[in-house]
Amino acid sequence: MKPNVPTPTNICSYVHGEFVTPANQHTLPIINPATEAQVSRLHEADAAEVDLAVQAARASFDSGVWSRQSTDRRQATLLRVRDLIFKHAEELATLECLNTGIPYMQLKKLHIPGAGVQFQFHSEAASQLKGELHQQRSGYQLQVSREPAGVAALISPWNGPINLSCTKIAAALAYGNSCVLKPSEYTPLAFKKLMEIFQEAGIPDGVVNMVNGRGVVTGAALVEHPGVDLVSFTGGGNSGKIVNSIAAKSLKRTTMELGGKSANIILESADLEVALDGALASIFTGNGQQCLAGSRILVQKSIAREFISKFVARAQAIRIGDPFDPATELGPLAYRAHMDKVLDYVKVARDEGAVLHCGGSRAPGFEKGLYLEPIVVEANSNAMRICQEEVFGPFATFLEFDTLEEAIAIANDSEFGLVSYLWSND
Ligand code: NAD
Repeated sequence: MKPNVPTPTNICSYVHGEFVTPANQHTLPIINPATEAQVSRLHEADAAEVDLAVQAARASFDSGVWSRQSTDRRQATLLRVRDLIFKHAEELATLECLNTGIPYMQLKKLHIPGAGVQFQFHSEAASQLKGELHQQRSGYQLQVSREPAGVAALISPWNGPINLSCTKIAAALAYGNSCVLKPSEYTPLAFKKLMEIFQEAGIPDGVVNMVNGRGVVTGAALVEHPGVDLVSFTGGGNSGKIVNSIAAKSLKRTTMELGGKSANIILESADLEVALDGALASIFTGNGQQCLAGSRILVQKSIAREFISKFVARAQAIRIGDPFDPATELGPLAYRAHMDKVLDYVKVARDEGAVLHCGGSRAPGFEKGLYLEPIVVEANSNAMRICQEEVFGPFATFLEFDTLEEAIAIANDSEFGLVSYLWSND
């Protein structure tokens, strides 16, 4: 079932266009969540190796080899990156599937093409940049022009490793920045291939660099580094607060893309079959590990019983299995501690008095692998932890409401922002 793609034996840093022979012997296993077997290993970059990567980025930025290249030449290179991502989509999707457990079909059709499109989108957006001229005050002429920021530290999560990292890399490069990427320590397997693509596309050495390792070691060293000008972070809110506070010490600019507990509001006027499809896809795509998941499903009381019972029946019919199987709809969770965290929320739900409609344990029929059955719970108050905390798994929480105003109030009664969904005929 799995396409015949060689698996890299190790993943190390990529600095100034070369894969670094690691000085630090600290390694972490790279696990296939479908089998729980080790498939490769990661060499963790320490502060000294992070320093090399930042220095390479700095030198490339200051040299102007990319930062002062014309926008149209940069655009041509970025479009080559896009084309090479499309060309190597099978290899990228295979490595990503092997390491994340996200169904191969979702990776091949959505994540990897999406990563390629980022390079087109951002290079086109950058080609339309405009400046401003302010002449209101006599004797003064004020000109505003957009310049690259410098060296960008790009820190990405494990739930869409290539796609979410490419969003950041494409945005940084299109405007002339150099960067150092730090992917999640859980899912670095496809990044060697991605770096090779940058090389092949003709991105000058030192413009894209990569360091790998845990957030508290490699990530923290990167954010602290005085050679970094801005930090773009995607991950959990708690890590985001830490990253922001480290960055603030040296007044680095930050961009934070954090978690969610987004409300999916279903009104009685909605086409219920369409809303049902939407609600299921919204919470179970990507094995339920999506920042934009509609994880709090708010249903109008008049249709709640019918909607929830249909949702539960459909959830129980979801095909769980090998993520390389094209029929699979729900693969394994990304890593063991995460699966345990999701299961802990079943206990939280029970202790809070929520109704468990289905799921709640490891999926039967799998000797190995981090497979869970889809979990559907029904809360009786939005104050419950299962309505307020991000579970980040195949875990749907239902809540009833009477009026649209009440639904909106419940949707907004959350410490998260991010996404909103609403189904109605209007
Ligand atoms: P995480 O916060 O644990 O880790 C994210 C990244 O930050 C990883 O690369 C990690 O190594 C690094 N990191 C962690 N602590 C760090 C520190 N102290 N210093 C520097 N780097 C550090 O998040 P995760 O578990 O990998 O990802 C899941 C979270 O990401 C969820 O909350 C999800 O909602 C969120 N997410 C948000 C978006 C969005 O666009 N808003 C997209 C995808 C995922």
